[in-house]
Amino acid sequence: PLDSIELGRSTWSFLHTMAAYYPEQPTSKQQSEMKDFIHIFSKFYPCSWCAKHLQERLKTDVPDTRSSVTLSQWFCELHNEVNQRLGKPVFDCSKVLERWKDGWID
Ligand code: FAD
Repeated sequence: PLDSIELGRSTWSFLHTMAAYYPEQPTSKQQSEMKDFIHIFSKFYPCSWCAKHLQERLKTDVPDTRSSVTLSQWFCELHNEVNQRLGKPVFDCSKVLERWKDGWID
């Protein structure tokens, strides 16, 4: 059965790690492919209400794919919106690369 908590935790690991290892100076092709990826991801994420929220947000807020730093911030803010919706603590986005690239385990 779908466990949206376990799925969410694993998916955030993937998304934040993907952003951390995205190029620092992506080509325009890489930038448009990353936008396409996030858009398509939002259509197939297998938690329907999560996917709905993400699709709504993407209508007004285009992913900032200019670099790994901007993309990591974009995902951090997205994750924080979900955290707030669920009553979880807000994460300090200045620590996002420390958490997801240089590494710490919580
Ligand atoms: P998670 O929120 O999964 O976080 C995992 C780890 O990420 C944390 O331990 C922390 O180290 C780090 N972290 C926390 N916040 C940030 C941040 N802002 N930036 C970077 N790193 C951070 N669940 C619902 O019930 N309703 C929803 O609408 C919903 N929407 C979702 C949308 C998406 C796109 C995704 C991927 C998940 C969604 N979820 C939703 C699942 C939810 O966000 C959590 O993953 C789940 O509740 C498990 O929470 P957790 O406390 O284990 O930590």
